[in-house]
Amino acid sequence: MTSPLHNGSLWFDTLEAPLASVAIEPLPDKVDVAIIGAGYTGLWTAYYLLQHSPGLKVAIFEANTVGFGASGRNGGWCMGWAMGIEQLLAQSDHAAEGLAVARAMQRTVDEIGSVAEHEGIDCHFVKGGTIKVATRPFDALDMQAQAAHRREQGFDAADFVWLDAAASKARVNMSANYGALYTPHCARIHPARLALGLARVLREQGVKIYEHTPVSSFSTHELVTPRGSVLAQKILRLTEGYTDSIKGQQRQLLPLYSMMVATQPLPASTWDSIGLKQHETFGDARRVTIYGQRTADDRLAFGGRAGYYFGSRRIPVIDPADPMLEHVAQTLLGLFPVLQHAQITHRWGGLMGVQRHWRPFVTFNAESGLGSAGGYTGEGVGASNLAARILVDLVLGRETDITRLPWVDDVARRWEPEPLRWLGAGAIQWFGDRADRREFVTGKPSRLWGGLFDQFVG
Ligand SMILES: Cc1cc2nc3c(=O)[nH]c(=O)nc-3n(C[C@H](O)[C@H](O)[C@H](O)COP(=O)(O)OP(=O)(O)OC[C@H]3O[C@@H](n4cnc5c(N)ncnc54)[C@H](O)[C@@H]3O)c2cc1C
Repeated sequence: MTSPLHNGSLWFDTLEAPLASVAIEPLPDKVDVAIIGAGYTGLWTAYYLLQHSPGLKVAIFEANTVGFGASGRNGGWCMGWAMGIEQLLAQSDHAAEGLAVARAMQRTVDEIGSVAEHEGIDCHFVKGGTIKVATRPFDALDMQAQAAHRREQGFDAADFVWLDAAASKARVNMSANYGALYTPHCARIHPARLALGLARVLREQGVKIYEHTPVSSFSTHELVTPRGSVLAQKILRLTEGYTDSIKGQQRQLLPLYSMMVATQPLPASTWDSIGLKQHETFGDARRVTIYGQRTADDRLAFGGRAGYYFGSRRIPVIDPADPMLEHVAQTLLGLFPVLQHAQITHRWGGLMGVQRHWRPFVTFNAESGLGSAGGYTGEGVGASNLAARILVDLVLGRETDITRLPWVDDVARRWEPEPLRWLGAGAIQWFGDRADRREFVTGKPSRLWGGLFDQFVG
């Protein structure tokens, strides 16, 4: 038996039952499909493999415990949007593909909600949409133009709705609020409940999840762990921000941190002031993204900032005293001064995986039986479900609408060696911060710093 590792998040502290000790089972000699990583991508992949092919022997190999990574730490925005869609929509010869991915992502939100309901996974799924608040007057102009532009791009009027300042404040009463762009295609979830709920369903269906079993390397038909080797017809590497931990996989995904804090459960009077009555998730238009949700137990969970450590260093659990977390807490207070006496009970961070071109990918080679998926950056709660369904179709040789999406084989070149990688990651953060700060001070768009930021983020 091994005690589970706590990832430091609010979500691991507010599970239905405390994390149980894990029995370490002997490894199998051979499986049909070996999945590396028990985050959403790995869990959803196993789930859909069994939906289509119940006889398959599927096993998951996880370095820590289920949901230890980003899937058990995130902001719980289950979004009908993903990285790279905006890039595709902006190019006339790829705009139709961008719309197809956006539509597939919108349907994914409902897919996750309906699987959760069908399988009895109480992950606090509430589809209240998401609201992007204009915290500077020029954001309001941009957002109105964007709502109109979305119609030209092929979206429906209900997909992106401009709310004037009064309507926006009625939804979320931020200190600066000049209006908002609202989309119904987002659900609020409790991230760890989804991950652990999926694992429970998989175990009931006979999938073995070998926790505390890091894969150190793999090659065609064989993976290697400190506990022994396993033969597999197909091996799917689904390790996102942790991919560097596997021999031969370095520099494919940049491990970038996102940081979160959560308040104590807040009284009804505070929520009367803040709003979020429909459990909308919320953010604003700054470049160094912020994201928040009202949890089922009436806390405010809020995240932002991004960090990269030299040499792609991965810190298993972020120290609550990390200065980036205090910065996130102060940002939250700036948006909602009503929280000045509220206690921040949780501070944590986690790793996202970023491809060199900032778009997700799914790939599978039928000859070698090797596949992988990821690169969602901070937008993988929904995207991991779509990526897993695509991967499963590729593995099973099914040609479907989703295997025609541009994520397939969109594998970027590797990131640069150090110190270039560290300098690049630092520059992104610096340009983003600089542009945001200037814009808040001057009330005008910062073309110079914003332009430099856009150059780096693709
Ligand atoms: C703080 C934070 C907030 C976020 N907020 C949001 C949000 O609100 N909405 C959204 O859409 N996205 C969000 N994201 C991103 C989202 O959580 C991820 O994109 C998604 O969870 C990725 O799932 P995954 O299964 O691919 O990776 P992970 O959940 O990271 O899983 C990878 C797993 O692989 C395991 N592993 C690593 N190395 C090995 C190895 N060598 N052998 C075996 N196992 C290994 C890890 O322990 C881990 O469990 C956020 C991310 C963070 C960190």
